[in-house]
Amino acid sequence: MQQHFDMVIIGNSAAGLQAIRTFRRHSSKISIALIDREECPAYSRVLTPYFIGGKAEKKHLYIVDYPFYNDLGVTPFLGLAAVKLDVVRHEVQLDDGTTVGFGKLLLALGGEARSFKDGLGRVSTLRHMADADKLLALLQFARSVTALGAGLVSVPVLSHLPKGVERHLIVGSDRIFSRLLDGESAALLEEHFVSAGVILHKLNDVAEVTEGERLELKLSSGSSLTTDALLVGKGVTPNITLARDAGLATGDGVLIDDFCQTDHPDIFAAGDAAEGKDYVTGTKTVQGNWITAVEQGENAALNMLGLSCAYGGSMKNNITEVFGLDVVAIGYCFDDVSHTVTSGDLAARRFRKVFLDEQQRVVGAVLIGETNDSGVYYNMVRTRGTFPGRKMLQGTGRHAAFMRQIA
Ligand SMILES: Cc1cc2nc3c(=O)[nH]c(=O)nc-3n(C[C@H](O)[C@H](O)[C@H](O)COP(=O)(O)OP(=O)(O)OC[C@H]3O[C@@H](n4cnc5c(N)ncnc54)[C@H](O)[C@@H]3O)c2cc1C
Repeated sequence: MQQHFDMVIIGNSAAGLQAIRTFRRHSSKISIALIDREECPAYSRVLTPYFIGGKAEKKHLYIVDYPFYNDLGVTPFLGLAAVKLDVVRHEVQLDDGTTVGFGKLLLALGGEARSFKDGLGRVSTLRHMADADKLLALLQFARSVTALGAGLVSVPVLSHLPKGVERHLIVGSDRIFSRLLDGESAALLEEHFVSAGVILHKLNDVAEVTEGERLELKLSSGSSLTTDALLVGKGVTPNITLARDAGLATGDGVLIDDFCQTDHPDIFAAGDAAEGKDYVTGTKTVQGNWITAVEQGENAALNMLGLSCAYGGSMKNNITEVFGLDVVAIGYCFDDVSHTVTSGDLAARRFRKVFLDEQQRVVGAVLIGETNDSGVYYNMVRTRGTFPGRKMLQGTGRHAAFMRQIA
C-alpha cells in the first residue's frame, strides 16, 4: 500500500512534535504524516525517572494525547518502524509493508542508550517507555540499586528512588559529570550526592555480572557488590542506520548543515539523531538535549516549508533535579576557558559560575540550587553577551529576592 504526504516525520518526540506545530503555524493545507515505532502519544523521556521512582503517574509523562494528531491534521503511523529509506523514489518503507511517499522528510529518530550485558533481567538501560516500565517493576522491591555511568539518565533515577534504598554509582572517570561540568561544580555535586547517601565507586567499571536472586557485580577495582538492579547509563548512540543505509552523509549522527538539511535537498534531520554545529565551539556535535531537539525541529520545519532560515547552532542546556537540588548547565562549562567567576556555595544551597572567553563574553554557566533565571544566562551565551559583573550572579529570581530579604 502506498500513501503520499507533503511532509513526513519519523520520530514522535521533541523534534518531531515541534516540527508538526511549526508546519501548522504556517500552513493548514500541507499533508503531514508521522511515523514512530512506539505505539503511544509523545511523552517526555526527561520525566521517566520520576515515574520509576513513584513520584509521577504514567499519564503525567504524556506531552500530547491521541486527539492531538487528528486535531492538527496529521496522519499517524504509530507502532510501526521505518525500515528502509529510498532517497531516489522519495519513499519510506515500514515494517508492516506499507510504503509512505514524501515530498520532504524529517529524520527525528533520536538515539538508543548504549547497552551492556543484554538479556539479563536485572540489568536495564533507560530510553523508552518500555525501559521505564521494566525499571518500575524491577525497582519496586529493590533494597539496593546500582547505576553505571554518572549522567542525566542514571543520576536522576538514583535520586528519585524511595528513601531507604541503598544507592551505588559507578563512574569510569575520577569525577562525576565529566562530560557535562567543570571540576569545581562537579565536586560540589559529588559532595551533595555523598551526603544524600550515594556510595561512589570512581575510576571503576563493572567487570563481571552474575545474575541470581540478586546481582553480583565484580568491579574492575577488584571489589564486588551485591545489588538488586543495575541501571546502565553509558551514553546514547544516535539512530543513523536508516540514513546511512540510504547513502546519506553520517558521522556520529546524521550530518546537517546550518539549515538542518542533510546532503539530500529534501531530507532534514533534527534532535538526538542529528549532528550539527555547536553554537559556542563551532564544531559538529550531537548535543543530546531536549531544547536542541525542539529548536532543530522548528528550524528544519521552516526550511522544509521553503522559509529559508539559518540555525545559529545548538547549545548545551541541561536542566535537571538531583537529590532535591536543581542544576542547570548551559553552553561551554569546562575548565579550559579563559576566565570564570563564581558566587555562593553548597551550604547556602546556591552556587553560580559563569565561564568567560578572552573578550569577557559569557560562553557558559552553571547554576546550582536557584535556577529560575537560567533563561537570562541562556540568552547571554546565545547573544555572546559581555559579562556585566558579579552583581548578575545574585540572580533575578524570587529565591534571590527572598535570600536578600532575609540576609
Ligand atoms: C531518562 C532520561 C532523562 C533525560 N533528561 C534530560 C534532561 O534533564 N534535560 C535534557 O535536555 N534532556 C534530557 N534527556 C534527553 C532528551 O530526552 C532527548 O534529548 C530528547 O528526547 C531528544 O528528542 P528527539 O526528538 O531528538 O528524539 P527521541 O526523544 O529519542 O525520540 C525519537 C523517536 O524516534 C523513534 N524512532 C527511532 N527509530 C525509528 C524508526 N526506525 N522507525 C520509527 N520510529 C523510530 C523512537 O521510538 C522515538 O520515539 C533525557 C533522556 C532520558 C532518556
